[in-house]
Amino acid sequence: METSTDPVVATEWRLTYQHHVGKYAAAFFAALRDQQILGSVCASCARVNVPPKGFCEICFVATDSLVAVGNQGRLEAIAVLSTRDAAPGEKPTTVAFVRLDGATSSLANFVRVPDSAAGSEPKMLRIGGRVQAAFDPQPSGRMTDFWFEPILDLESSQTINNGGEPRE
Ligand SMILES: [Zn+2]
Repeated sequence: METSTDPVVATEWRLTYQHHVGKYAAAFFAALRDQQILGSVCASCARVNVPPKGFCEICFVATDSLVAVGNQGRLEAIAVLSTRDAAPGEKPTTVAFVRLDGATSSLANFVRVPDSAAGSEPKMLRIGGRVQAAFDPQPSGRMTDFWFEPILDLESSQTINNGGEPRE
């Protein structure tokens, strides 16, 4: 490959743009202002997809209605992320897939453990653990308008079996 001897200048482009998110996403973000989380209902198989989708990914048919699902749900997958360069005392970031009550699918969002529960993370952040959506009092139309917080259940000492379901 031949290399050029012409001078080059490093630069970057910053693009600000707006795009239409579609009627279901628009309804989803608008409902967050009312502290509601919406899903779309498939008339064929009755799946409730959260966040709502315009089609059912199982039946490949258009969905035609929205429904509010519960603001509580169960942790299905958890990732605790920390960086090597974390400042002293900086908490790791936790992201989880949560299946909200009444939903067929799960959605990912941040999980915040209240400072009052520091040290209890291993008990609270477990597959099958219950969480509650908490909402930003000043929503901006983004997924980060809400997050999940563990529901304190320190009496429970459930452990996890290989199937991922809590074991009594
Ligand atoms: Zn379906």
